[in-house]
Amino acid sequence: ELDAAFFARWMTASADAVAREADRLTELDSAIGDADHGGNMRRGFEAVRGELAEEVPGTPGAVLMTAGRKLVSTVGGASGPLYGTLLRRTGKALGSAERVSGEDLADALRTGIDAVAQLGGAAAGDKTMLDALFPAVAALADSGGEDFGAARDAAERGAEETVPMQARKGRASYLGERSIGHRDPGATSAALLVAALAEADG
Ligand code: ADP
Ligand code: MG
Ligand code: MG
Repeated sequence: ELDAAFFARWMTASADAVAREADRLTELDSAIGDADHGGNMRRGFEAVRGELAEEVPGTPGAVLMTAGRKLVSTVGGASGPLYGTLLRRTGKALGSAERVSGEDLADALRTGIDAVAQLGGAAAGDKTMLDALFPAVAALADSGGEDFGAARDAAERGAEETVPMQARKGRASYLGERSIGHRDPGATSAALLVAALAEADG
């Protein structure tokens, strides 16, 4: 059973991971984008950290909706609205329960990820954050919502598998075939967030 404090730990661990890896995310984005992904993610998650330091909302759903709203309002670019949608829609799907199961979380994440795909018009294999998120939620669901480590490993594999893909969405798609051979920055940050989830669970 996962409570609001668990979800606040997830968001704080995400902020830590993003801050630690910001230079790497920006480096990846400099190869196939506009070199701002690390800065975008750090700004957004530091704002989330600040908001949750003032007050942790009372339910898991409210924690994620608050964090998602903060990301939308502080991060420009593609990743702000997309990650904002992920967290807001996942939080909304969790409803107003004070505790949720891992299975509830797997179901809610599926809803949130589908909303990201809908908003951005991307599918699996388009070389985006979805290529880490889809396998992560599949692994979590396969384990009945129990194995966060399996979700982390699946997300990391999914991010690595973006290297040979040609980007079909976002800025990287402007490069056409020249986007091949580079790891997608958003898939890399998504894997960090899933790793932070496993950390919050440990
Ligand atoms: P911007 O491209 O506006 O500078 P960021 O650099 O912060 O925004 O984020 C880039 C990442 O956003 C990409 O690496 C990709 O994973 C993700 N992304 C971009 N467009 C889409 C989309 N349509 N659907 C899903 N993810 C996307
Ligand atoms: Mg960018
Ligand atoms: Mg940008």
